[in-house]
Amino acid sequence: MGIPEQVSASIRAISPYQPGKPIAELAREMGLRVGDIVKLASNENPLGMSPRAREAIAREVADLPRYPDGNGFELKAALVRKYGVAPNQIVLGNGSNDVLDLLARTFLAPGDEAVFSEHGFAVYPISTLAASGKPVQVPAVNFGHDLDAMAAAVTERTRIIFIANPNNPTGTFVPGERIAAFLAKVPRNVVVVLDEAYTEYLPDADRYDSVAWLAEHPNLIISRTFSKAYGLAGLRVGFGLGSPELIDLLNRVRQPFNVSTLGLAAAAAALEDEAFVARSADLNRRGMTQLTEAFERLNLTWIPSWGNFVTVRVGDAVSINQRLLAQGVIVRPIGGYGLPEWLRVSVGLPEENDRFINALRHALEEEAGQ
Ligand SMILES: *Cc1c(COP(=O)(O)O)cnc(C)c1O
Repeated sequence: MGIPEQVSASIRAISPYQPGKPIAELAREMGLRVGDIVKLASNENPLGMSPRAREAIAREVADLPRYPDGNGFELKAALVRKYGVAPNQIVLGNGSNDVLDLLARTFLAPGDEAVFSEHGFAVYPISTLAASGKPVQVPAVNFGHDLDAMAAAVTERTRIIFIANPNNPTGTFVPGERIAAFLAKVPRNVVVVLDEAYTEYLPDADRYDSVAWLAEHPNLIISRTFSKAYGLAGLRVGFGLGSPELIDLLNRVRQPFNVSTLGLAAAAAALEDEAFVARSADLNRRGMTQLTEAFERLNLTWIPSWGNFVTVRVGDAVSINQRLLAQGVIVRPIGGYGLPEWLRVSVGLPEENDRFINALRHALEEEAGQ
């Protein structure tokens, strides 16, 4: 038997994560100039990062010969100030992806079940299978979480439930009171992971205080990231908040130096710049209107989104995507999420959104003329 055949069926069942195409790769493939390419494929912040984060990075460069602070003291102190939790309620991750993976490795023994939604974030099944757990995918309603069905899917083997709010790639949102009601009815021995990667983009009217729920729900873990509104995707920093008991277990499994020196410093500085995050959310709201008004004009259906991206139905998404790439515009086909006719586009700067809209109109015309 060869090595691949010896590997567990669980590992072999993993469908690899499909990242957005890097700008440099498209430039090479199409013979385009890097500066002529627009990437709206990975929900990155089009404003970049806070100048304070940039300064922190420059300051820390001299310290790079040393290992990072494995306990992340400064970043945790900044998180304590912002969220009012204790330091032993925080686990830091190499992106929140790392936190999600830690959760699966910590709480899933072989055959244990992890419940998540159809059209949910791709990392949930990947981390579950990598930990030899059993993914349990619950059908979506209106492209979003069906919390009643998810609660009904809990069995004796269920150890984790993953909920992304807002969800990626559909952008759907579950109001806070519905999540609170769900938490109240889920068995206390099941870890509920509330993945709030896009929470900074929520309008005031939809905000809810999940951190306050931690006191009543020691089985709740909130996952957040610096990759989206904070604009630090390339540095890989995320964190989880939870009860000291669960956080202690996660910290045992965590690699000792999982967050880099630059990541720790930049994230702590970024957290203090609330004006930057507010500006980012503002720009996002305007860009979302720009995109959805264009979809309306083009007679396209889209899914109302609470994130910094929107998913739109274009027909043959693989073909349309190819036509967009040829024009130097990178978005994300999401056939792998069970949505083969849809493209997910991140909200960019106004001129980037325009580039995309014009390229999409052109692609749809070409497709119709076929
Ligand atoms: C982008 C995203 C993440 C965060 O990824 P990082 O590893 O923190 O860069 C987590 N969850 C969802 C739903 C996301 O879309």
